[in-house]
Amino acid sequence: MTKAAVIGLGTMGPGIAATLARAGLSVTAFDADAGQRAKAPKGFEIAAGVLTRLGLPDRSAGEIAIMDSLASCVAGADLVIETVPEKLELKIDVFRQIEAVVGPDCVLASDTSGIPITKIQEGLSLPGRVVGMHWSNPPHIIPMIEVIAGEKTSPEVVRWMVETVKLTGHLPVVIKKDVPGFVENRVLYAVMRECLDLVEKGVIDPEGLDTCVSWGIGYKLAVVGPMALLDMAGLDIYQAVGSYLNKELSDRDDVAGYVTERTAKKKLGIKTGEGIFSYTPERIAELQGERARKLIAVRKALQG
Ligand code: NAD
Repeated sequence: MTKAAVIGLGTMGPGIAATLARAGLSVTAFDADAGQRAKAPKGFEIAAGVLTRLGLPDRSAGEIAIMDSLASCVAGADLVIETVPEKLELKIDVFRQIEAVVGPDCVLASDTSGIPITKIQEGLSLPGRVVGMHWSNPPHIIPMIEVIAGEKTSPEVVRWMVETVKLTGHLPVVIKKDVPGFVENRVLYAVMRECLDLVEKGVIDPEGLDTCVSWGIGYKLAVVGPMALLDMAGLDIYQAVGSYLNKELSDRDDVAGYVTERTAKKKLGIKTGEGIFSYTPERIAELQGERARKLIAVRKALQG
């Protein structure tokens, strides 16, 4: 049985661990923060409940074991996934500690949102076994996972990772060039830049923007991807509209003041109770439940 170790039990780790365990892997998990380790079982339970509601088969062979050291967590692992904060030096440091314990065939995967895998490989002694495994949040519900080869990743490791992702019932997408942000976040950040620009210029208010995107292009894109959409709409239409509209779109290369002003005041969103909108603890719980319920319904409908 494949033994997987998950390092980091913050937003992403518990859902990743629960998905791997459900697929029949033997899973251990570790977080440097004891408080996060204490909270993790609740996260596993919630994610497992969602996987059941999604109707995925339960091949789990046992509980996820939470370990109290990184070394005990990764000992004997075939696959280690790091999902610690998005800092290159931290990720390299964590992988170096892992390298000192695991065997040479253990695959080292990073859930980085967009740090090139090649940069992580540069700090490690066996770069061929390092691969990107970029899950989307919430990781137990969103089926797409980007598999990214760094310049030195062995093709065999990429193939193995693709098969491992399929085992979980998720959908692997191979990213052929190790560009910053890979593909999902490049597309998302292009959309976010334009959305923030429109709100900042007063073209639309934040609530209206969300309705426009979710019930317009978001709803459509869940069913027809951008390339297929171009064919359905007609390339001549894109040619005509793109020829006057592309030059109007935001091309700013800094982060919008709309965001930087809020982050400076620690208005970070639901984690601080206020960001673009304001939240009570009850509203946060309600929103998270609502998000899971709607995502499950959409995934079931699309897969059915
Ligand atoms: P997070 O801050 O919620 O959680 C990170 C966890 O790592 C924390 O619990 C922290 O205590 C732990 N940690 C820090 N240093 C550690 C160490 N040395 N050893 C073990 N544990 C350590 O972060 P997150 O949102 O879960 O993101 C983790 C990674 O996943 C990042 O690279 C992020 O870019 C990526 N990612 C995040 C999302 C998202 O929507 N949050 C989506 C996809 C990918």
